[in-house]
This record gives sequence, structure tokens and C-alpha cells, in this order.
Amino acid sequence: MDLKRVVLSLICCAMLSLAFLSCTSNQSSKPQTADLMLRNGAIYTMDAARSWASTIAISGGAVVYVGADSGAEKWIDPQTRVIDLQGKMVLPGFHDSHVHPVSGGLELSQCNLNGSISAAEVFQKIREYAAANPDKKWIVGGGWDLPIFPNANPHKKQLDELVPDRPAYLVAADGHSAWVNSRALEIAGITKDTPDLAEGRIERDPKTGEPSGTLRELATDLVSKHLPELIAEDYLQGARRGLELANRFGITSLQEASATDKILEAYAELDRRGELTARVVAAMYVDPAKGEAQVDSLITKRRRHQSKHLRANAVKIFADGVIESQTAALLEPYLDKPGDRGIANLEPGYFNTLVTRLDREGFQVHVHAIGDRGIRYALDAFEHAQKVNGKRDSRHLMAHLELIDPQDISRFRQLGVIANFQSLWAYADEYIVKLTEPKLGPQRSRWLYPIASVAKTGALLVGGSDWSVSSMNPLDAMQVAFTRQRLEGGNGKAWIPEELVDLQTMLTAYTIAGAYANFQEDKIGSLEVGKAADLIVLDRNIFECGTQDVHRATVLLTLLEGKEVFRHESFKDALTAE
Ligand SMILES: [Zn+2]
Repeated sequence: MDLKRVVLSLICCAMLSLAFLSCTSNQSSKPQTADLMLRNGAIYTMDAARSWASTIAISGGAVVYVGADSGAEKWIDPQTRVIDLQGKMVLPGFHDSHVHPVSGGLELSQCNLNGSISAAEVFQKIREYAAANPDKKWIVGGGWDLPIFPNANPHKKQLDELVPDRPAYLVAADGHSAWVNSRALEIAGITKDTPDLAEGRIERDPKTGEPSGTLRELATDLVSKHLPELIAEDYLQGARRGLELANRFGITSLQEASATDKILEAYAELDRRGELTARVVAAMYVDPAKGEAQVDSLITKRRRHQSKHLRANAVKIFADGVIESQTAALLEPYLDKPGDRGIANLEPGYFNTLVTRLDREGFQVHVHAIGDRGIRYALDAFEHAQKVNGKRDSRHLMAHLELIDPQDISRFRQLGVIANFQSLWAYADEYIVKLTEPKLGPQRSRWLYPIASVAKTGALLVGGSDWSVSSMNPLDAMQVAFTRQRLEGGNGKAWIPEELVDLQTMLTAYTIAGAYANFQEDKIGSLEVGKAADLIVLDRNIFECGTQDVHRATVLLTLLEGKEVFRHESFKDALTAE
């Protein structure tokens, strides 16, 4: 090192220590002030005591004050932006613990059938999309609801009429079935002689054995592998759209429920550009066929994606399918299909070995489990991992949990497995009435979405939307959890009322428990001094608005680390008023 450099570094050191000294003396003489202060609000902090406050002050992205209006003046200086909330509600930003923002965002630019209430509406949308996109080589999209079609089984003939000139591939809203036309079957080489896969089914004409146009689970890959490849820019756009929607619903933190390499790369690119507007923990997709051979590459990807807002610390395993299309793994057969207990994607011994290895490597394992057998196999795998590896702070998650055998309910708590419910599904809609209860009978149906039973054991509950499978709005899911009725026009009768939980439980699931599930409860999940200012403003206090109106509450403002990531147009004036 030459003399000039030594002198320079000495000067730098001196300046740094001066700056440090002036900073500390400054702190003792004049308190730090806030960049933003929200006053006169109904602030539900979600701290351990579940305290309420009326003012919150933010500086440098962190909460510096939360409490009464009267104690807050010292945080104001001429630069502080002060907003009078006029009684509006403030909550920590929501956590969606099971969501697919990128693939859902991609769907928004494809043939989007989400929200269609009849076959006629589905047909109309397909017709319009095909006409509006004459240059597309394939018609690709999805979002059709299973109960719209008899036996959840749409026919290729209908799709041939709607799209006669090109192949078409349309995924069901739940992502576990695809409806294809004859052209698509032809390209994939699927004929009546094509055998079913162990983890999938080709629906067929019962008389001729000809494929009828609906594919279940991994059988969908036979066609999807021929789809025109999406490029990185498509994924980036999808991620942007998905995250924009998340912020609109007050979501500031999430667990991406099935990250492929391309999805992971889209998040990473947004992160590099400073455009990642939610904290993402990515659960990387585990291919059941590749087993332990893929673990090294998962470890490499985990190492590569460790930033403040993106961490690829989790892995995703699909234990089974869904009940409606009879691919969920059940302990007893489906009533209308004697001897058929559905499809377990991983047999117990293999499941145990794989989970134990992933647990040992320090991954958080996020399992899709719907049928009581799929759920049992997953719990057994976690128990096995604990026996072999010892009890770790692993925070494994099981999502969906549609049908839990009563014997297994206490095991979530015992094993420290987080119960990740999609409570929006827990009411008697057509999926339940037409496609689920008839296949299970009343006795087993009692144990559909047993949210309260699991909560009562002391297990940790988190919530997720599974968007684009269903609405991403956390308030929709919360309302169904404490009403177990449809959001609009319920008949006042809860479906399986024993399993009702309260708003408090659901708020916990969507805030501090969600933060815990992402290993961030010391930084976010509640509004406390020193924590990041991830928060939302709602137009009303959801404790006071009536249980049927909670889903009508609107998010007016969403902050991630004090930075605005969404603002409702009606809130504009309020922000600039003072
Ligand atoms: Zn999912």
C-alpha cells in the first residue's frame, strides 16, 4: 500500500468516526424523526398482547413508534408526512402462505377462464380469445371450474367446435386437470392405446376407450410438453401481474408454492431490478421421479437465491391430487368407484426417505396433501424425518388439508408441522356438494377442512389463497373461515359449524403466524418498534363491520418496508392532504 493510500484511508477513518460521533450526539440531543406518520387510526398491532394503537410512525422503513396519538408528537418534524386516518384500520401486511403469483400472472395474459359460472360462459370466452388471437399457434389458458362440466369431465368435441384450426390446452382452475381438443391429443400422440400413468389418468369414452379430452394430474404433461415455450420475459410479466394483485390485496409476504427454475429466475430478476414488491420464500418444485438425485441442484439454487426479499429455502412436494377428480389419496375407496383409493404420488417408504434427506439438508418442506391418505403419508414422513434427524426448527408445512382422518388431527401439533389452510374452500359450494360429499359419504365428509379441530390442538395455522386456483384476497378466505358460508347470499347456516374459527385466529394466520412460517417473525408479522413497516390501511375496522362484510373491506394502502407498493385511487387525496 503506498503512502497516499494510507493517508487517504486514515482521513476516511477519521471522517467516519466524526460522522459516527455527530450521529450519536445528534441522537441524544434530538430524537430521530419519522418519514411517515399515520394518526387517528384503529391500528391492530398483532403483537403478543394483541394491542390496539392509534398512531404509528415510520422511519427508514422501520416502525419507530406505535401507540397513542398523544405520545407521538416528538416524532414529527417539517419533513414528516402525516396522514389522518379518520378511524380507518391498520394491520400488518398480509402473508399468503401458499400462492402461485407467477403462473397465475401468466394465465392472466392467456385464455383466462377464471370466474366463469357456466359452460356457456366458458365457451364464449374461448371463442372470443381464439378470434382475438389468430396468430397464436396454440390456444393455451385455463381457470375452468370442475363442477361446470358433468363429472368434472369436459369433452374434446366441444373444444373441437370452439377451436377447430389449432391445438388447445386449457387447465382447470385447480391445476390438476387439463381439457384438450383432438388436435392437441394428436400432437401428443395420445390414442386409445396409450396406457394411463401411475400418477395420472387419461379420461376415456367408457365404450370405445378413446381419450375423451380431459387429462388428470401428470397425464397433462403428455400434452403440455408440446406447448410453445414461454420466454423469460413472459415469466417476468407474469410475476409483475401476480405481485401487483398481491399488493392490491395487502399481501407483502408470501410463500411461492411451486417454484420451477423459470419462476425462480423471474423473482430473482425483479429482485435485481428492485421491483420485487413482496417478500418471497420460494418452495422449489421437487420432481417425485428424480428423488434424491435432485437434492444437490436444489442446494445450489438455494445458495444462489438468498437476498433480503427472495429466499429459496423451501421445497414443494405433491403428495396426491384432488378429491373432485378422484386423484386425492384416500384411506377408504371413493364411494362411486369401489376399490379406488386415488393416487399417492409417493409411496410411504420413498416419501419417508426423500423428506428425511430434505429435512437433513435444512430445507423447509411444503407438502400439497388433500386426501386423508395423502395427509397421513406426509405426516408419517415428517415423523420419520424427526426420528432419524432429531427435532429441528424445520417449520415444515402441509397445505390444503381437505380431508383429515380424526386420528391424525393432533399430529400437526405433536410434530410441529404448520397447518396451511385454504379456508376459502370451506363451504358448501358445488365442488363440495356435487363432487366431494357424494364421493365420501356423510361420515367422512364431517372431517372436511377441520380447521377448528386442528387449531384446538394448539397447532400453528397459516392461510393461503392458492391463487390462481381461487381468489387471492385474504379477507375472502378469512370470512369463509368464520362463517363457512358463501361470501354473498349465504343462507345463514354454517357448513360443519363445529369447524368455525374466529377472526382473531385468521388474522393471526395471515400475519404473525405467516411470518413465523417464513422464518421472519422477528422482523415482520406484527407492528412493533424495530420491525419493518410492512403494513396496510383498510377502509373499515373489520372487527366492527359485521361478519358478512369483512370481504367487502378494501385495502387503501400497502407499504413494504415503509415504501408504498399499492395505493387505492380513493386514497390519493388523503395522502397529500397534510
Ligand atoms: Zn397450490
